[in-house]
Amino acid sequence: CGIVGYIGYREATSVLIDGLSKLEYRGYDSAGVAILGESKLTIAKKKGRLANLEDRINEFPIEGTIGIGHTRWATHGEPSDVNSHPHFNGKESISVVHNGIIENYMYLKEWLISLGYEFKSDTDTEVIAHLVDHNYNGDIVEAVAKTVQKLEGSYALGVVSKQEPDRLVAIRKDSPLIVGLGKGENFIASDIPAILNYTRDVYLLEDKEMVVLTKDAVEIQTLEGLPVEKEIFHVTWDA
Ligand code: GLU
Repeated sequence: CGIVGYIGYREATSVLIDGLSKLEYRGYDSAGVAILGESKLTIAKKKGRLANLEDRINEFPIEGTIGIGHTRWATHGEPSDVNSHPHFNGKESISVVHNGIIENYMYLKEWLISLGYEFKSDTDTEVIAHLVDHNYNGDIVEAVAKTVQKLEGSYALGVVSKQEPDRLVAIRKDSPLIVGLGKGENFIASDIPAILNYTRDVYLLEDKEMVVLTKDAVEIQTLEGLPVEKEIFHVTWDA
C-alpha cells in the first residue's frame, strides 16, 4: 500500500524503514525490502507490523546503498510472508514492489506458466516480476517499459536488477508516486512525508511517466523513451 525506493550513499535499509514508517497511515498488513549490494540482491519481508521486519533486519543486517521497500495492503492472496513484497523473478535477479491492482493478472499468469515460469505467491504482483524477466535483455528500463504496456489496472512500481547495480526504475498509473531529489542520493515514494527527512525537492509524477534514478541523476521519460521536462516542486510544509 506504500512504496519507497532509495539510491545513494547511505545504508538503504535504514532509509527505507524510516520512509515506510511515515506511510503507516495508509494501512498495511506486511512489509519488506529488497537491497542491492555488491552484486547481491537480498529480500527481507515479514507479515505483520513494520517492527517485525525491523527485528529481522537487526538480526540479519543487509548491506547495500540501493533498495526498494513496501508496506502491503493485500488485495490478491492472504497476508503472509510469501505474499509480501518485494517479489523476485525465478533467477532472483530482478525485484519488484507494487502498489495497486493488476486486473489482467490471471491471463498473464497463465500465459507465463505456459512459458515455464514458476510462481511462488498468490499475488497479482508476481506476474510483473516474471514479465520484466521475460522482457529483459540487459536493459531494465526497456524491460519495464515493455512490461507495463501489457498491464491493465493500477500500479506504482519500483524495480531493480542485479545486473544493473547502479539504477532504480519506477513508474505509476492510477497509484501515487513521487520522486525525491537529493545530493548524491535520490528517492521514490508513494507520498511526500516518506522522504522529508532527506529532501524537500520533489517531482510529482503523472501517469505513465517512467523515472530512472541513479545516485547522481533523475531522468523522466515517456514509455517510448522520449525525455520529459518537469519542474521541481519545493515542499514548504512539515509532515
Ligand atoms: N495487489 C498487490 C497485492 O495484493 C499490492 C497491494 C498493495 O498495494 O499493497 O499484493
